[in-house]
Amino acid sequence: MTLHLVSDKPSVIGVLDLQGGVHEHLEHLEQLGVSYKRVKHPSDFADLAGLIIPGGESSCLSRLLNIFEIKNVILEAHRKGMKIWGTCAGAILLAREVVGETPCLDLIDIKIERNGFGSQLDSFVSEALIPAVSAQPVPLTFIRAPKITDAGREVNILLRIDDYIAAAESENILVTVFHPELTGCLALHRYFAIKCGLKPAANSHNCIDPLWKSSSWTKHAGIA
Ligand code: GLN
Repeated sequence: MTLHLVSDKPSVIGVLDLQGGVHEHLEHLEQLGVSYKRVKHPSDFADLAGLIIPGGESSCLSRLLNIFEIKNVILEAHRKGMKIWGTCAGAILLAREVVGETPCLDLIDIKIERNGFGSQLDSFVSEALIPAVSAQPVPLTFIRAPKITDAGREVNILLRIDDYIAAAESENILVTVFHPELTGCLALHRYFAIKCGLKPAANSHNCIDPLWKSSSWTKHAGIA
């Protein structure tokens, strides 16, 4: 009889490598000390613990999912247990309802409105406490972000601001309308890794590379 001492539980997070902020997510996962890889071909999705769909342009991403023939591959991997985190455009792809448009993956019961804050020039940075995610305030970067305007009863709202939901999750899906990968903070990547059943390195802390502050996005909330 052979004893298998090595667990065959999936232990890798894939970052969808079609368009958008791929590299920045990979870098955050590297800092967190979890295994990761770029994914774009059907065979890449076997045995992923989790998948990150980065921000970018949701209309472009949804076309590329069809061109690369991976939409059904993602749905199937999700059915088998792969968790998914969508940031910004990624959240739009995961939504059940997209205002004025046909939904793409339809994996979480949220209603989302593209470009809910206006144009690219209305992009801004801010911060907020997300108690489920971190004891420290988390920096938030909104780039031509969508607004989540409604969520079903089984969806857990992680962060609500004014009239919209900025972060939410179901058992297997996490959505944020902002971009944690464009800040020096690892808190949401850590949160997702743990949701995927992985153990981030004990010595990886949540923050904060001060260089990110100077290279941050356009408007600082509260500054005229
Ligand atoms: N506005 C983009 C869209 O509708 C999303 C922007 C982003 O991902 N930063 O797809």
